[in-house]
Amino acid sequence: MQKLRLAVQKSGRLLDGSIKLLNDCGISIDNEKNQLKASAKNFPLEVFYLRNSDIPQYLEDGIVDIAIIGENTLIEKEKEYQVVQKLGFSRCRLSLAVPKNANYDDFSFFEGKSIATSYVNTLQQFLQKNNINAEIHQISGSVEIAPNIGLAEGICDLVSSGSTLFKNNLKEVEVLLKSEACLAKNRSLDQEREQILETLMFRIKAVLRGRKSRYILMNVPNDKIELVTKQLPVLESPTVLPLAKEGWSSVHSVIEKDQFWEVIDELKAAGAKDILIVPIEKIMT
Ligand code: AMP
Repeated sequence: MQKLRLAVQKSGRLLDGSIKLLNDCGISIDNEKNQLKASAKNFPLEVFYLRNSDIPQYLEDGIVDIAIIGENTLIEKEKEYQVVQKLGFSRCRLSLAVPKNANYDDFSFFEGKSIATSYVNTLQQFLQKNNINAEIHQISGSVEIAPNIGLAEGICDLVSSGSTLFKNNLKEVEVLLKSEACLAKNRSLDQEREQILETLMFRIKAVLRGRKSRYILMNVPNDKIELVTKQLPVLESPTVLPLAKEGWSSVHSVIEKDQFWEVIDELKAAGAKDILIVPIEKIMT
């Protein structure tokens, strides 16, 4: 039987999230010896541990069928791929930053200046699109120190919380792109591997929906059920179960994690009490 070949980052920020996602999908990989390649025990999947920046090439060449990788890397490497699913972790943005005390109005600031980056292609495209002539210094790490040591007047780098910029006396001035980890695939998979990918995608979607959602339970007086239900942005209609206490029910539903704080006040005002919010492992519809 064929196996689907998946590339993940060998080490670095994406690795833990990638392995956690597979584990949450019920797929366990035994790679105690730290090998380049390991097979899943209970799923037709072979995992290749590769250097992050090499993954787009392996994907284009069909050495691997799919990859978990940051969109920023795919865009920078300009290889052939198709994004199958955004995965919701390792969110970051590729931004331009300048010294905190620089007088910055708009990106014409960079005309005739030098910018340090590891993202040469993406930056070049941005500069071209905006008709800016700037000198690009390609460096492979610790880009944020470039202005402090006089190597460049600005930088183009990945930002998530912004604390690295802050610590280096820099301010973010333009966002070139937003990125998160995604599942990308080679454009031409054979049918057997497409089928395995479909099974994997079913599991991944169930996990991602579970991560985004919460199970909500609350006690509601029977005459307020309709009013409370109206406030719930639910999957389908809620489950209503009678409580031992006369005239009261327990209302159960599913709510998006981010929506919860927006509706809590309305739910309370509508008559809901003893509200419980419980994590959901997976949702399959
Ligand atoms: P690294 O582990 O530094 O090789 O980064 C691998 C990937 O993690 C990057 O290509 C991004 O997709 C993602 N990432 C998320 N947040 C950040 C961040 N603040 N700095 C660098 N990379 C990040």
